[in-house]
Amino acid sequence: MLADVRDDFPLLARTVRNGRPLVYLDSGATAQRPRAVLEAEADFLTRSNGAVARGAHLLAEEATEAFEGARADVARLVGAPVEEIVWTSGATAAINLVANGIQNATLGAGGAEADRFRIGPGDRIVVTELEHHANLIPWQQLAARTGAELAWIPVDDAGVLDLSTLAEIVSPSTKVVAFTHASNVTGVITDVAAIVARAREVGALTVLDACQSVPHIPVSFPELGVDFAAFSGHKMLGPTGVGALWGRKELLDALPPSIFGGGAIAVVTMERTTWLEAPTRFEPGTQPVSQAVGMGAAARYLMSLGMENVAAHEARIAQIMREGAASLDGVRLLGPVGGPAAGDVLGLAAVAVEGVHAHDVGQVLDDRGIAARVGHHCAQPLHRRLGLTGSTRASAHVYTTEADAHAFVEALASVRSFFG
Ligand code: PLP
Repeated sequence: MLADVRDDFPLLARTVRNGRPLVYLDSGATAQRPRAVLEAEADFLTRSNGAVARGAHLLAEEATEAFEGARADVARLVGAPVEEIVWTSGATAAINLVANGIQNATLGAGGAEADRFRIGPGDRIVVTELEHHANLIPWQQLAARTGAELAWIPVDDAGVLDLSTLAEIVSPSTKVVAFTHASNVTGVITDVAAIVARAREVGALTVLDACQSVPHIPVSFPELGVDFAAFSGHKMLGPTGVGALWGRKELLDALPPSIFGGGAIAVVTMERTTWLEAPTRFEPGTQPVSQAVGMGAAARYLMSLGMENVAAHEARIAQIMREGAASLDGVRLLGPVGGPAAGDVLGLAAVAVEGVHAHDVGQVLDDRGIAARVGHHCAQPLHRRLGLTGSTRASAHVYTTEADAHAFVEALASVRSFFG
């Protein structure tokens, strides 16, 4: 059972419009940070700030220890060896790093070792129809630049992936399958095993967008069997401006880098450069060190709560919000109400209210002190498929209370009467 953690989050104590207490239901966009994270960053900046991996002085040594210690903490959260974690500026950057690496391999970078990544006309890249734009556009771009074909696993009328098409869509010519671990709109957790099994049959690489899963459910990338995975600091109670790419070490060592500069290199001559092993080869330039320290603290904080407890807590919040929303006249819940197993839908509810624009729904919620997200949530194709231009999404985290979830449902119930 999850302990009451609200006092760990100073921001949650503030009041908002009309002096109302804040009901923060926008954690799917960005989560609030516990003191443990705020203090880890402040402590680093006020005591140990220095350039990592470069200096011979005490501060540089402490900074390097903190930076690498944070990497180890983040690795532990996702069940991975530390050398398989690459710091990035976020999940978007992590996915681009893989797509651009494949493009560079296709252009001949990385030599024979990078042959396995080459892609071109006649090959296929597969995504899904419910991807966040961060896990769609980099693959569209890769397809456009290499001549490969982009195909996608469709969703059904409820917005749930239709895996009956898997064998056909993930064809023998498929080189990459990029898909989300959990939808940021419907909250549905993907059947990763089924997709990985098919991808392996055809020898395709798998890239998982784990942005919405890592903060909310137990995740072990090696156990999931994917090849790469991207996740983000600010969704898991950590800072913005930092995230990570996980990849199998042998793949990371063979993938050509796509951002170039100091710090990532073995030997530089005027003509050419050789790179260090992963993860360093992907981390040129000055890294977001204090943010990484904060993300490490967030990983430790989540592990101290226990991810099983986090998932169970959020499943309960999901149940209140989803069942409550689905029971209201004129309210359409995107995705299923909930699955048979607790935890197979994230703690979020995106809704469309008949005859009322998503922004107006958001306004009614805001007047009551409820912070929710409105719009397409960077998933335009999914909304289009569902016949919508946008929706209003309430999303939970460890600090969300059952009272918050009920407040959302009550506010939603008032929306149609408000707009007459
Ligand atoms: N993927 C999903 C499913 C997301 O929800 C988000 C953030 O909204 C992203 C990717 C992008 O993450 P980041 O902000 O770390 O670039």
